[in-house]
Amino acid sequence: MTRHVVTLIPGDGIGVETSAAMQRVVDASGADIEWEVAPAGAECIESEGTPLPESTLESIRKNGVAIKGPIATPVAGGFRSVNVALRKALDLYNCLRPVRSLPGAGGRYEDVDLVIVRENSEDLYAGIEFEQGSEGAGSIIDLCESLGAGSIRRDSGISIKPISVAGSRRIVRAAFEYALAQGRRKVTAVHKANIMKHSDGLFLTVAREVAAEYEGRIAFDERIVDAFCMNLVIEPGQFDVVVFPNLYGDIASDLAAGLVGGLGIAPGANIGDDCAVFEAVHGSAPDIAGQDKANPTAEILSAAMMLDHLGEQGAASRIREAVRRVYADGSCLTGDIRWATGSKEPAASCTAFTDNLIEVM
Ligand code: NAD
Repeated sequence: MTRHVVTLIPGDGIGVETSAAMQRVVDASGADIEWEVAPAGAECIESEGTPLPESTLESIRKNGVAIKGPIATPVAGGFRSVNVALRKALDLYNCLRPVRSLPGAGGRYEDVDLVIVRENSEDLYAGIEFEQGSEGAGSIIDLCESLGAGSIRRDSGISIKPISVAGSRRIVRAAFEYALAQGRRKVTAVHKANIMKHSDGLFLTVAREVAAEYEGRIAFDERIVDAFCMNLVIEPGQFDVVVFPNLYGDIASDLAAGLVGGLGIAPGANIGDDCAVFEAVHGSAPDIAGQDKANPTAEILSAAMMLDHLGEQGAASRIREAVRRVYADGSCLTGDIRWATGSKEPAASCTAFTDNLIEVM
């Protein structure tokens, strides 16, 4: 059996609980993983002077694979998102989020099987922002006026939305390559090119060019993001692999997760050319943190994606199969799923759910 060294960032809030649960399940799956625990988040600021220590980045670069729990980001003020910084530092441009119906999880549909491919490095997430009243905001307002690009109110804060040819090309290629490798039939590109002609418009133009390279092998279609949202809710079965610029992909991920039972079961991965960091779609859920109530399924399914990536398909399938069995049985599910299914049965704790999952593996 091959031993793999994996960087583990437990994260904060419920991350501490879901990461511990995930670790137990992976250890029970038969895969031989050596965990290299590395910190990130608010707890590091005091000890390391930064929420994302260089030693954590080094560990991921060395191992090539990491799994992380969620990390809280202070709203408007405080440090910038560690999650965004991590994706940027390691150039994890491909955010892959499979969305599958899980019978017993309270989803509205039984036939959802789509994959969200979200561009992860540019768009409004590039982090280029100017505070209202700042010199930078004033300069941009002046520049737009002097170029005749339009007038912006003086009291505006500004966030820049860059979308490049190279960035679009590599994410759309990644979507098509994923479709080919996984035996999928279609890639849909989602955009708002009718309004943002030079950012989303560019993304769409590049998507069409890339699609032409795959003609005859993988079908292609395109949707405006608002229409996509409605179509997704009405008939999710029509979508297969769906590729988005960063922000729309972020929003669509939660929307799609909601269709199949919620954030508690939505896994994900951030993939670059050199490293991959696996993590659930959900955040640190401060409202339930520290109470042993969190649903660890999303992080456990993220670990199954990681095991596939490491070539440990057997262990990955054992985990997925056990998850299916636990949900189909329905007697030991966490509170979020009880709520989603409208069940009055008592909710299982994160620990009890994990014990049960390991037992049926
Ligand atoms: P959230 O995903 O943490 O929570 C949204 C709702 O879903 C809450 O009611 C929460 O209790 C519930 N929920 C989420 N995951 C759950 C789980 N596994 N089991 C049961 N219930 C679950 O989103 P938020 O409240 O908007 O964000 C909280 C913090 O997390 C913020 O600081 C945000 O920046 C951060 N965040 C981090 C990541 C990441 O690390 N990748 C992603 C999203 C949000």
